[in-house]
Amino acid sequence: TLDSRVPYSTATIKQSKGYKGHDMLAPFTAGWQTTETEPLVIEKSEGSYVYDVNGKKYLDALAGLWCTILGGNEPRLVAAATAQLNTLPFYHSFWNRSTKPSLDLAKELLEIFTARKMAKVFFTNGGSDANDTQVKLVWYYNNALGRPNKKKIIARAKSYHGSTLIAASLSGLPALHQQFDLPAPFVLHTDCPHYWRFHLPGETEEDYSTRLANNLESLILREGPETIGAFIAEPVMGAGGVILPPNTYFEKIQAVLKKYDILFIADEVICGFGRLGTMFGCDKYNIKPDLVTVAKALSSAYLPIAAVYVSPEVAEVVYSQSNKLGTFSHGFTYSGHPVSCAVAIEVLKIFKERNLLQQVNNISPMFQDGLKAFSDSPIIGEIRGTGLVLGTEFTDNKSPNDPFPPEWGKFLPTFWIGSYFGAQCVKHGMFVRVSGDNVAMAPPFILSPQEVDEIISIYGKALKDTEERVQELKSQ
Ligand code: PMP
Repeated sequence: TLDSRVPYSTATIKQSKGYKGHDMLAPFTAGWQTTETEPLVIEKSEGSYVYDVNGKKYLDALAGLWCTILGGNEPRLVAAATAQLNTLPFYHSFWNRSTKPSLDLAKELLEIFTARKMAKVFFTNGGSDANDTQVKLVWYYNNALGRPNKKKIIARAKSYHGSTLIAASLSGLPALHQQFDLPAPFVLHTDCPHYWRFHLPGETEEDYSTRLANNLESLILREGPETIGAFIAEPVMGAGGVILPPNTYFEKIQAVLKKYDILFIADEVICGFGRLGTMFGCDKYNIKPDLVTVAKALSSAYLPIAAVYVSPEVAEVVYSQSNKLGTFSHGFTYSGHPVSCAVAIEVLKIFKERNLLQQVNNISPMFQDGLKAFSDSPIIGEIRGTGLVLGTEFTDNKSPNDPFPPEWGKFLPTFWIGSYFGAQCVKHGMFVRVSGDNVAMAPPFILSPQEVDEIISIYGKALKDTEERVQELKSQ
């Protein structure tokens, strides 16, 4: 018999009792999961581990949601937050009032971004409202320049940019659009740059990148370059499946954007602050963006904060308009929240003192090579990654065109193998991220060699369980 409803975090294990049918409308959760299964309730974190209410320990190989880079109990972040809470728990940044932590953090952020010179930083609460802010900046900029039609934004299939109305529109994942009347009409999507899945027979990575750049140019010409305001991209796609750009991709894409005076928004929400082994994804792929979004690792997720970097050219237009237009009427109560900013300043201090970038580069070969050694598994199509991020693509016959039969997962079509593997990881004491046939990992940067060994060992056990289950299903 087939397991019909395999909730990908909670299958096969007994968990906390008493929260079934709980009161939260839970994000990215199916209603039936909350009514038919117990939630996995996390109570405590320590280093690279989290513990549930039953005391079961899990190696958090996703660092929360790709974010707790300093792990679960960094006392210096607690001290920084406490000190700020004791001095000034809140004041806002409207009307040119501000707080010292927000001003200091903006200065520090500008210093550490070196892929190109940036001029200003705007603070938001999370990655989604930061990307909404980016679109508003693009519109403000083009209105100010007298180009009121240059408003469309090009994003990519399989991208993830958040889940507010605009950020979900930018995202190229159908699940975020269906049922929500999205994407908004000013958003267009171009190719997902996944070489393994989409290249033509005999096509090199370079040829594939040329084809994608040509497709982008055709889209721009079809729509009219005077209508396209910006292009948004994650340097490495995260939630869409840890998709690394093929060789020469960003070089060719940037040449097209430049030709038609289209702004480049780099969504560094996952890649920023060392995840790829460089300070930013823009450094790794030689991207010269006009606008950059950062979040997650910025505060190691201890408190919510995100930021938008603005280039000198865009900032200059925004500032020069203020005589004509007055106030830049955009902002949030918690823009530059002093406690979040104080924590972020401490994260950046620790980052330098402990040379976390070096730490990522020291540990990542063991992590990458150890897991990529499973590439021969008959149920894995591709394992890809760089730095401390890695994706596993489950597929039949090692082919991008042979997904496992959707009828194997009655309620989560196409999710089945990934969810089964994810559930086996949970059973063996590890968290990964399941999306479709892809499983992503992005552990904290404090990971020790022993913890990398543990990740590899649990991954191996979960893979063996999954291979056996596939065999069983195939023989039915
Ligand atoms: N952009 C990217 C690349 C992301 O991965 C995410 C979150 N996973 C977001 C934006 C949205 O961030 P948030 O959930 O903080 O709104």
